[in-house]
Amino acid sequence: MSNLAITNGHIITMNAADDIHTNGTLLIENQKIVDILAANAPVPEHYEKIDASGCVVLPGLINAHSHLYSTFGRSVSFDQDLIKWLTTQKNLIAQFDDEDFDLCIEVGIALNIKSGNTCVVDAMALPNDSGNSRYARALALGKQYKLQYVLARAYTDQMVSPEYIESLDTIETLNSQLIEQYHEGRDGRIQIQMSPNLPWGLSAEGFKLTRRLANKYQVGIQMHTSESHAYADLIEKAFGHRSNIKVYEDGECLGPDVQLLSCAHLTAEEFETLKRTGTRVILDPISNTTLGTGNPPTTKVINSGVPTALATNGMASAGGQDMFEAMKTLVSLARTETFDPATISAYRALQMATIEGAKALMLDKQIGSLEKGKIADVICVDVATLYHAPALDTIATLVFACSSRDVKHVFLKGEKAVVNHTLTLADEKTLVKKIEQRAAAALERSRAQGQTKG
Ligand SMILES: [Zn+2]
Repeated sequence: MSNLAITNGHIITMNAADDIHTNGTLLIENQKIVDILAANAPVPEHYEKIDASGCVVLPGLINAHSHLYSTFGRSVSFDQDLIKWLTTQKNLIAQFDDEDFDLCIEVGIALNIKSGNTCVVDAMALPNDSGNSRYARALALGKQYKLQYVLARAYTDQMVSPEYIESLDTIETLNSQLIEQYHEGRDGRIQIQMSPNLPWGLSAEGFKLTRRLANKYQVGIQMHTSESHAYADLIEKAFGHRSNIKVYEDGECLGPDVQLLSCAHLTAEEFETLKRTGTRVILDPISNTTLGTGNPPTTKVINSGVPTALATNGMASAGGQDMFEAMKTLVSLARTETFDPATISAYRALQMATIEGAKALMLDKQIGSLEKGKIADVICVDVATLYHAPALDTIATLVFACSSRDVKHVFLKGEKAVVNHTLTLADEKTLVKKIEQRAAAALERSRAQGQTKG
C-alpha cells in the first residue's frame, strides 16, 4: 500500500470550518487522510507525489441515489411519462442474463468512479426469480471496484407485475440474509439498505416489517417518494388516501435513518412531518426535469436543519452520472423558483454532494470531507483549461463551469482508481464495445416481444 502526497492543489476540505488550502499537500497513508500541509511545506520522503497543479482537490462526491441496472436503457425512454418509462425499463431488464446484468452494474460503477462519485447508493428492484443471486453479483462488483457501495434492495408485495412480487416471509428472509452476509463488510465499504420499491407497491404490514428489520439490523431505509402526480393516484388505489407520507408514517418508516428521494409534490404539512421526524430528503434535479415529473423541492428542505443529499438517479432518467450537472441544475432551478440568487449558494450545493450527503446517509464519520482519520476518497478536478479559465472563484467554477469529464484523478481508499482521466481498474474501450453489443441485442429481444411498443 503506497503512501501518497497530492501536491500543489487547491484543497477544499468541506470540513466544519470550511477550510481551503491553496497549493497545499494532502497526505494519504494506510488508506486514510493523515494530514494537510501548507503551501511550500516539504513533503516527507516516503510519499509518492501526485502533482495536482491546476486542480481543485475535493472529497469524492456522493451520489445518494442511482439505478445501475438501468445502464442498458439509458437512452431509450426519455420521451415517456414516468409510469410508461418504468414499464419500458422493466421489460428491458426482463431480457437480462447474468452477463448482461453484470455489465450494466460494472459500466455503472465505472462511470460513477470516472465521474468523481466515490460513493453510490444503488437502488435495485429485480424480478423475484433470482432470489439474492443478482444482488450478490452486484455486491461483488462493488467490492472489485473498491468504491463506497450502498445497495438498497427494493421489494414489493402488491400492485406491480407478478414477477416482482415477493411474500412478506420471503422479503424478510432475503433481506435478512443479504444484510447478515454483506452489511458493513469489507471494512464498512459495502452497506445494505431496506428499500420498499414504490409507496403503493408494499402493504401496510410490509412497511411495518421494514421498520422492524431496519431497527434489528441498524440499516437505513431509502424510498422513492412523490416523484410525479401519478404517485397519489396509485397510493389512493392501494390505501384509500393520497399521501406518500401517511403511508410511511403509518408504517413507522420515517426518521433520521430514512431517506426519501424526490418529494417533488409533497404538501407543506408533509414537509413539516419530515422536518419533525428528522427524515432525510434526496434531491435529484436532473431526473425530475428530464422526465418532466416536477421541480426539486429545494427551497422547502434546505432550511429545515435536516441534512439533504443530492443524486443523479439512474442513467435512464439522468443520461449520465454527473454530480456537477446535478449541482448546477439544483441551484438554477431553486433560484428561478424564487427569482433570487441568494436562495441557495453554490457552496451549499457542493456540501450536499459531499459532507451533507454523507450526513444524510449516516456515513459522515468515514467520508464526505478531507480530514485527518477519514477514508482517503479524493478527487482532483482539472480547472486549468479553456473550459474554466480564469477559475478565480473555485466554488463557482466547480458548480457552474465543471462537468464530470473534468475529473482528472480519483483515489478510492487511497488507491489510484482514475489517473489522468483513465480508469485503472478496467479497460474502458472493452467495456464500451461490450455494452453497445449486448444492450442492442437485449433491446431487440425486448421489442421483438412487443413489450416496449406503444
Ligand atoms: Zn430512483
